[in-house]
Amino acid sequence: MKQYSETGERIKRIRATLPQGVTLIAVSKYHPVEAVEAAYAAGQRHFGESKAQDLVTKHQSLPDDICWHFIGHLQSNKIKYIAPFIHLIHSIDSLRLLREVDKQGAKVGRKIPCLLQIHIAQEDTKFGFTPDECLAMLDEGEWRSLQNVEIRGLMCMASNTDNKEQINAEFAAVKTLFDTIKERFFANEERFGILSAGMSDDYPIAIKHGSNHVRVGSAIFCE
Ligand SMILES: *Cc1c(COP(=O)(O)O)cnc(C)c1O
Repeated sequence: MKQYSETGERIKRIRATLPQGVTLIAVSKYHPVEAVEAAYAAGQRHFGESKAQDLVTKHQSLPDDICWHFIGHLQSNKIKYIAPFIHLIHSIDSLRLLREVDKQGAKVGRKIPCLLQIHIAQEDTKFGFTPDECLAMLDEGEWRSLQNVEIRGLMCMASNTDNKEQINAEFAAVKTLFDTIKERFFANEERFGILSAGMSDDYPIAIKHGSNHVRVGSAIFCE
């Protein structure tokens, strides 16, 4: 597909700018299997999708060594389709959803890696826990009894704005929350170590604020 002839080069260019230890997730949502194949040929193995059905379809038709990330709003009734193979769910936005993922993890005998999504942007349309809600949920403690999920870190999306100061402030706030949670609930536990922040327009800023998983779509797959 001509449209994806640049994909491999773009991936290599982006990867060359990332510090060691930062994982690039190629967000292939809305793009066909051919787009993923072009990225795969350039050595890319981490891919992100925002719809369970698209993720399942792509998982079925692409190589087994791909690590699939779920980054969209997750409906409870869709968890069962991705539970057997999902590498990381970035978008846990309620304790109820965490419980549901735990239930499906138990059915397939997995401990499913998850991130808690933090609502930090100014848009109301975005999902996630506010920092206070997130701390309250962790304080309450029920999550500790869920044997088939593993909280590996936090995810956030900054506001969709050109205001660099605001974006900096939002990523900085999430990093502060990440450090607080790490110290309070996961001290000396390596499993809490993922900060998923940054997309095509703002990933360099996110990395400055400690992001180690960047989710890049349009900069890889669009003209
Ligand atoms: C679509 C999407 C991305 C990628 O956005 P781009 O601006 O295309 O890089 C990253 N994260 C989430 C949660 C998304 O929905």
